[in-house]
Amino acid sequence: MGVIIASAFIISILAISMVSQQEKVRELRIRERMNDRLTSIQDRLDRDIQSTLEQVFARVGQETFSPHAPNSVLGRMKEIVLENPIVQYPFILEPSGETFLFPFSRKALGSVTAIADKALADATIRSIYREARRVEVDKRQYSSAISLYQKAYRQAVSPVTKLYVANAIARCYFKSNRFRQALWYYHGNLDKTATSFRREQELHFLTLRQIALSYKLMRLNPEALQYYLNLYEAVISNAVTAHPNVAEMFKNEALDYLNQYTLNDDEDSERFNRAKASDRLKQASSLDIALSWMFFELESPTTASDGIEDADSIKLRELYTTTDRKARFYRAVKDSDQWKDQPIGRTHYSSVKEKTRVGTGAPIQFHIVSRKISDNLVFGFYPSLRHVRDQLFKDITSGILENPNLSLRLLRKNTLPTKRERFQYTLLSIPVGSLFPHHEIVLKSTHRDFFRRLAKREIRSSYILIALLIMVMTVGTVIFYKYIVREEELLRLKAEFVDSVSHTLKTPLTRMGLLAENIRQGWVKDQHQREQFLATIMAETSRMNDMINNMLNFSRIESGKKQYEFSRAPLQDIVAATLQQYSGDIEAAGFTCVQEIDHTLPPIRMDVDAVKLVLVNLLQNAVKYSDRAKHIEIRLYRKDEHAVLAVTDHGMGINQRDRHQIFEKFFRAADSNVKAREGSGLGLFLVHHAVAAHNGNIEVTSEPGTGSTFLVYLPIEKGDR
Ligand code: ADP
Repeated sequence: MGVIIASAFIISILAISMVSQQEKVRELRIRERMNDRLTSIQDRLDRDIQSTLEQVFARVGQETFSPHAPNSVLGRMKEIVLENPIVQYPFILEPSGETFLFPFSRKALGSVTAIADKALADATIRSIYREARRVEVDKRQYSSAISLYQKAYRQAVSPVTKLYVANAIARCYFKSNRFRQALWYYHGNLDKTATSFRREQELHFLTLRQIALSYKLMRLNPEALQYYLNLYEAVISNAVTAHPNVAEMFKNEALDYLNQYTLNDDEDSERFNRAKASDRLKQASSLDIALSWMFFELESPTTASDGIEDADSIKLRELYTTTDRKARFYRAVKDSDQWKDQPIGRTHYSSVKEKTRVGTGAPIQFHIVSRKISDNLVFGFYPSLRHVRDQLFKDITSGILENPNLSLRLLRKNTLPTKRERFQYTLLSIPVGSLFPHHEIVLKSTHRDFFRRLAKREIRSSYILIALLIMVMTVGTVIFYKYIVREEELLRLKAEFVDSVSHTLKTPLTRMGLLAENIRQGWVKDQHQREQFLATIMAETSRMNDMINNMLNFSRIESGKKQYEFSRAPLQDIVAATLQQYSGDIEAAGFTCVQEIDHTLPPIRMDVDAVKLVLVNLLQNAVKYSDRAKHIEIRLYRKDEHAVLAVTDHGMGINQRDRHQIFEKFFRAADSNVKAREGSGLGLFLVHHAVAAHNGNIEVTSEPGTGSTFLVYLPIEKGDR
């Protein structure tokens, strides 16, 4: 036993040390497992995004867009945006030409310098002009430059040429701080440039700006304000858009100044407000007419009677109310030259950078998804991160983390957590994919060392498991060991049993053989002696019979074939008859026997032979295990719902240790006094089995050296109670 426990102890120590070495490995494995989960989320998200995009393109594919019907294009776009929340800032463009159907018009293109050069068509004037420009720009000799420009002016015939040369003269005066002269030339140009031709338009903006700036530098604020207001109005109200960058530059300068001072005149401030309103309108889109109409549709009552704006109009406003970001997006798309070589029908992911620094803010990079939808049209849009994050990603990840200390987020790369955030620590991250290259799926936790903690916890449960396993193994081994010991003991007892039975049978057989031989030879002459001999032979036969009955019963019980035959019978009669049968033997052995039998007991349901066997075995034991006090009492009485049969002797008694074992098969007390007497260790086993078959019970009270009482309880049937 000691060996078993010691080896269990050694095994546990080995197992525990093996497990503890595993902590690092386990942490890595957990990390890998989590990474796999993240990858599968990434895959699903990618698939969901792809199918959402396919839906959009399928929807777009059903439409035909005509560059000549901007209003209908706008209407369809509106529907596409409303139906597909992933679509933000949609556009359609013609990659070969410069037509940008939505939201910019073709008119938006062009540049100031190109126009200026074209205007100076005449070769001689151009050479004088160039010389003047060299003197002005390279040498900065403004007076000489002015004389040269004036020479060109005198020779010029075309009014347009005159405009540009006059502008150059004014510029030189301006640069040499002679503002009055500059103003005189600028004012002269002003009326002539206020036309609807685009090339003069931009010169017009420039002239207004120069006038305003000159007044500003002369510290004539009211005049400066007046002309900046004129400039702002001119830029805003122009149906024909100048190059957007140039226009925006003028506009911003004017706005800066106008916002810096308050306009005194009511009329002026009203003009300013009106211009600002239409500025907002214009920013919404450059598809001028369609948008003006759209804008008014938006401004007209879209609020339902209960005061809640309906979702559609909110989305519409989202689409058309401009943000600087949106304007920048369209500008970047328009300036990009990547649209030409796309194959039809394939989704194209790209990014455009809004490079110009006009206005405020740094350049922004936009990621676009687009597809060539026909020979000459590309449809594209800026996909909504919000939709992907709050809808697709949420759907995939909701409820998949069992641990409340973990959270899955879709975040911009390198986003720092705020201090108050619960999930502060980034455990793992994985990119979202080509559509959102700056974002990633992040596994966050409340604990920096979450994986190690988890590994520790897993190991702890492994410890418990190992301990349990070892315990079970030890207990199992102990039980098995005990079983083997018991089996060995049984084998030994069986051998002893065979030995003792042969001995027990041999003695009476020899005796009977001798007696019979004496009678046969005629040596026993005396009639009385012969009868005594015969009686002895009979008694030995009956004893052997009992013994063989016991053995037969035992073998039936062992093989599971023992059956009891129950019938209602009067117990008192059975007991009396059995005592009658054995009283001769008992008395012959020198015992006095007292009987107390209750004759009023109701009949008991029993197997008569089995009950006889019980009584006979108890009587035989009482006789066998008594020495000096040869006195036996047999009582049969009723106690509550049982008939009780009590057999008392005043013999050697049974010690405490053996008392609960005497009913086991082959058990005999180790006492030498007991061993000296014949026996098989089967009697009480059979008694116990028979009593149990009657739903009864057997008890023993005993005192070594004083005697024993065996009490057999047999149940009285319900009807007789
Ligand atoms: P056997 O008598 O053949 O040994 P039993 O099964 O009848 O087998 O009894 C088992 C053991 O119980 C006996 O060996 C003896 O030690 C003890 N025993 C039974 N009856 C008595 C009794 N009346 N007084 C003392 N010991 C008894």
